[in-house]
Amino acid sequence: MFDKVLIANRGEIALRLHRACREMGIRTVAVHSTADSDAMHVRLADESVCIGPPPAVDSYLNIPAILAAAEITGSEGIHPGYGFLSENAEFAHIVEEHGYTFIGPSEQHIRIMGDKIQAKQTVGKLGIPVVPGSDGAVTDGEEARALAEEMGYPILIKAASGGGGRGMKLVRQGSEFSAALTAARTESKAAFNDDSVYLEKYLERPRHIEVQVIGDGTGKVVHLGERDCSLQRNNQKVLEEAPSPALNEEARQRIGQVVVEALSHINYTSLGTVEFLYEDGEFYFIEMNTRLQVEHPVTEAITGIDLVREQIRIAAGAPLSFSQEDIRFSGHAIECRVNAEHPTTFVPSPGQVVDFHAPGGLGVRVDSALYAGYRIPPNYDSLIAKLVVHGTTRNDCLMRLSRALGEFVVDGIDVNIPLHTEMIQQQDFIQGDYHIHWLEEFLGRQS
Ligand code: ADP
Repeated sequence: MFDKVLIANRGEIALRLHRACREMGIRTVAVHSTADSDAMHVRLADESVCIGPPPAVDSYLNIPAILAAAEITGSEGIHPGYGFLSENAEFAHIVEEHGYTFIGPSEQHIRIMGDKIQAKQTVGKLGIPVVPGSDGAVTDGEEARALAEEMGYPILIKAASGGGGRGMKLVRQGSEFSAALTAARTESKAAFNDDSVYLEKYLERPRHIEVQVIGDGTGKVVHLGERDCSLQRNNQKVLEEAPSPALNEEARQRIGQVVVEALSHINYTSLGTVEFLYEDGEFYFIEMNTRLQVEHPVTEAITGIDLVREQIRIAAGAPLSFSQEDIRFSGHAIECRVNAEHPTTFVPSPGQVVDFHAPGGLGVRVDSALYAGYRIPPNYDSLIAKLVVHGTTRNDCLMRLSRALGEFVVDGIDVNIPLHTEMIQQQDFIQGDYHIHWLEEFLGRQS
């Protein structure tokens, strides 16, 4: 096992990683920008190293500075968390090349899944159902348009290197196609320095359902059930739950098995999430995330498994400590992403947190790096806390969530807690009857 791990991230996830390490007897090294000198992850870690100025490109994305921090502290493993360098195959390569262990999947798997076209082709060959669309990248505008006509509108143009919903354009009719293609290419080039795009059939009212997996590199891969992440705004997840109210046991087993078989073929190692759209009883692969996800705690709540601990063990060369038969799903869990933003205008709201009180009690977990007096820097993501609630049934979980949201106090800045409170009182949500556009339609009706 590692003696010392460097955590190449910040905020709540840096704390989450630190906690797992501490419980495993591993010493931690925090890295931070000058904007984060007072951050909780820096305060709690055994050691800390400042790696640059506030902009992420100069600090949390600064590979030479992170490696230098690993060297001077004598770290053995580097955990990238999510976001930042977590899905950067080059980073995984450099880390390993310098003799450290990258706590995550192999460089090769990150590379394949990071290119959405290659990912779709790879998983398609392995028997995972994919969204109908172009075979690969579309280059010729005329050919692409002909293909779109053949597939039938609506069509989604998506960026091969996409992430966070960028470079994605919906086309409802032929006359809009050329302009949308140019826009998708330009946006993708600007965001990812790659203008390859592909076409996909646009599904009108699907759910977003993802399967959590973990493999240990011996070909043994286990799934830990699904998460329903259909409540989204601007293609960003807002609330996640497990199990999905839309799946029955048969569908759950079926998709779990398909994913496990496919990923054991490629000897997948570490944590991963296979994302699907689900409509009319069918699953359609959209992408695979080769990292720890923001919403992993809902899976931890219903399985009782510490995913980060298991991920670290595997990176250190240990085999999986459980088999598929050992996984027992128990109860229901929901996660609310608490963001520093206005609950109706969504304008980010960095600044000083005057008062902070996190809810507690049975079945309530809050992952957050906030404290009273902390100043949230304007440079990073607006996610400031994750409220994760577990109950014996979905109904118990909803009652508990409502209670916990009522106790949550974050004063001094705007937060989206009122949005969550409002959302979970809606009949559609209470009945589990929602899809990926539900939240935007709901917000449209509110304004
Ligand atoms: P990104 O990596 O940019 O987040 P994804 O492929 O994961 O892109 O898609 C993000 C979201 O966009 C999905 O959760 C879903 O809401 C929507 N989406 C993606 N593909 C389709 C599709 N073919 N039809 C309808 N909606 C889609």
